[in-house]
Amino acid sequence: MLKISTVIKLVNLRFYGGIKEIGGNKILLEDNGTKIFLDFGMSFNRREKFFEEFLTPRSANGIGDFLTTNLIPDIPGIYRDDLITHFGRKPEEVDVQAVLLSHAHADHANYISFLHKDIPIYCGKTCKYILEAIDEQSQRNMENEVLNYKERPIFKGEYKNPPIERAFNTFRTGDKIKIDSIEIEPIHVDHSVPGAYGFIIYTSEGPVVYTGDLRMHGAHANMTDDFINASKEAKPIAMISEGTRIDIDKSDESEDTVYKESKNEIKENKKLSIVDFNFKDVDRFTTFYKIAKDLEKTLVISFKHACYLEKYHKDKKIQSPDSKDENIQILKPKRLTGTYIDDDYTDWYIKKRLNYPNIITANDIVKNPNQYMVVLNFWYFNMFVDLKPNGGKYIHSLSEPFNEEMEISYNRMMNWINYFKLNFVQSHCSGHIYGGNLIKLIENINPKVIYPIHTEKPGNFKKLNMKTVIVKEGKTYKI
Ligand SMILES: [Zn+2]
Repeated sequence: MLKISTVIKLVNLRFYGGIKEIGGNKILLEDNGTKIFLDFGMSFNRREKFFEEFLTPRSANGIGDFLTTNLIPDIPGIYRDDLITHFGRKPEEVDVQAVLLSHAHADHANYISFLHKDIPIYCGKTCKYILEAIDEQSQRNMENEVLNYKERPIFKGEYKNPPIERAFNTFRTGDKIKIDSIEIEPIHVDHSVPGAYGFIIYTSEGPVVYTGDLRMHGAHANMTDDFINASKEAKPIAMISEGTRIDIDKSDESEDTVYKESKNEIKENKKLSIVDFNFKDVDRFTTFYKIAKDLEKTLVISFKHACYLEKYHKDKKIQSPDSKDENIQILKPKRLTGTYIDDDYTDWYIKKRLNYPNIITANDIVKNPNQYMVVLNFWYFNMFVDLKPNGGKYIHSLSEPFNEEMEISYNRMMNWINYFKLNFVQSHCSGHIYGGNLIKLIENINPKVIYPIHTEKPGNFKKLNMKTVIVKEGKTYKI
């Protein structure tokens, strides 16, 4: 749908989510009648306010529970017809032209699930691969239908109906995207997931910069440098910036430190080594893969992890081994009968990989534990019973708990660690820029005005010698 630009110059920004909270970004930019969303993510903080494991928004009520509890904003012309009509409203004419998705993390991407199919999604090529890996190994629910969705309600006999695919347009860094009168330049940034981008949005009033999530201390800091340089050159009239760690002035964390620390710890361990990190973080995978190779150990991954690895391997921009690599083996979980027979596996992502040559069970690992480094997430700690890791090492390569819910899980995790007498090691490097670097980044880009989001402490941006607007939910800001 092409709209002819009028002479009325007007750029509006409206913010939903990510305001005094970590993530859930949904930023609506309007220029001469063209409307685009910058991300459309899920806010964990908001969700936790009302819901938990056994108290969830009901998909039986379509979009109703999500709208009522303000998990998604009530904006006309953006949501799926099936969800809107299920909630008792009439279908609405689509009123937004695109979503620019910065990266594949749930707090930026997942509530695309609710959007109308006629709103195209623009994201990086690698980002799309990751969305495909997520899709392959997760059970469909209303909050993870980013790539495709099934119309609700689903009646008996309709479960096998094919899903409706969303329209995706992928880009690489430096490409130019045109959405009606707005031109957008996506530029790669370094973050804890590959395929992460910041955007320079050329509006009728001038360029607006959006950081997405980024960092300057990671393995690909040069990508963030590219973003900084291009943004600076654009002389932005406004900048929307993440501020997850604005309160941390200094830090000496790095991916290389994780590598060195973890390698030393695993080297001196004569028993089983268990490591936990996020599958989506390919840099962290590379770190532990390198350690395994250096120490002549086998890296044992899960079938879920294999879904990601195969996508990364396919992506020529990422140098990543295949899931059948000689240094990698895939751990077969116990299901149904617990006897490892093929019939036990009903999940397609496992079933289709059962014939791989590098499948291993806990029984094999127990025979020679020193030979292995097992990547094991907390949700699979019941496998300790089979792996018998007594006296071995556990490397927690994830962030430490930063809220009450995480604290509870963390304590439970420590109970398992202590029960199996594992030596606990914390070694991590954050995906987010810390305050000291962020201040430098913003001063370097030097926008006319800064809008902090994705932060619990927007007030900390006030220390910048720059016009800072602390935004309010749903309010319109003219630039
Ligand atoms: Zn992120």
